[in-house]
Amino acid sequence: MTNNAVTRRTFLASTAAIAAAGKLRPARAIAQTGQRNAPIAISSANGLRTVEKAASLMTDGADTLDAVIAGVNIVEADPSDHSVGLGGLPNEDGIVELDSSVMHGPTHNCGAVAAIRNIVHPSRVAKLVLERTDHAMIVGQGALRFAKAHGFKEQDLLTDDARKIWLRWKESHSDRDDWLPPLEATDDRKQSRAAGAIDFTYGTIHCSALNAAGDLSAVTTTSGLSYKIPGRVGDSPIVGAGMYVDNEVGAAGSTGRGEAVIKNCGAFAVIELMRQGASPAQACMAVIKRIADHTKDPRLLDDQGRPKFDVKMYALAKDGRFAAASIWSNGKLAVSSNGTARLEDAAYLHKRPE
Ligand code: ASP
Repeated sequence: MTNNAVTRRTFLASTAAIAAAGKLRPARAIAQTGQRNAPIAISSANGLRTVEKAASLMTDGADTLDAVIAGVNIVEADPSDHSVGLGGLPNEDGIVELDSSVMHGPTHNCGAVAAIRNIVHPSRVAKLVLERTDHAMIVGQGALRFAKAHGFKEQDLLTDDARKIWLRWKESHSDRDDWLPPLEATDDRKQSRAAGAIDFTYGTIHCSALNAAGDLSAVTTTSGLSYKIPGRVGDSPIVGAGMYVDNEVGAAGSTGRGEAVIKNCGAFAVIELMRQGASPAQACMAVIKRIADHTKDPRLLDDQGRPKFDVKMYALAKDGRFAAASIWSNGKLAVSSNGTARLEDAAYLHKRPE
């Protein structure tokens, strides 16, 4: 018996156990029809325009990597999406820092930038890291200098809207500093501070694509965890965590609590499970379950031992099947296949309390 067989058998046993426990609820999205539905693009729920754009470019013959990047560029430039690019929520100092990675299936090449400031399209810079350097990732000041060398213009990415959201957090997240919310914001400022009111927020866009020739690419781009410690890097720019492609197997990506995805090599794990025979739905759910099982810190668990945070894994197989799964219910994925773009339900591990 080969090691592969053992691993596959162990994996199948574990997914069967999940299913038997009634927790595996496959997304309706599991297309059984294969590449004939291509081009196919999948994305996080904020990516309906992204998948439409990516699929239409692939229909016109664009390379899969160009297609996914053009798709996410729409959201990077949209000031109303506070999780990506322009208008993204800033770090704790009020400065927007962006992370992105890209991977091209046919060449198995990748590029990434992390903690880059003042550049609205980090995904384009990540692609240039792939194309115009011998490196896989460039961060911080070096990434900004690299982008400027390629003609990118600096721009303040903190919109007034995002600044006000950040300021509200700054003024209300602690009662042990000197920042106070405005008097008119509440009758009782102390009470508002004690409530701790505003949580950190996550948000990101991932897009994976498959063309009719069976080639795959992926991108993930984000402003990351809001109010993070400056320099914090999430999963999105980590190849193998925030996204990964193997042109013989599929493409995968993630959104949600990046620290949890990094600790479990999320996207790489999804692809490896698919390589061993798991469907996209089984692979996404197995990784979600693994992330939940590996969460040990009581600070991150509710009174039933379930993660207090959410993560979503997305997968697109070379044969055209696709799926997403999350820790908590009500997740969606955006899909374009057969020329139509829509939102579909993601599978989930735990039902959100009503
Ligand atoms: N995964 C991203 C990060 O941790 C954020 C998100 O997807 O919500 O930076």
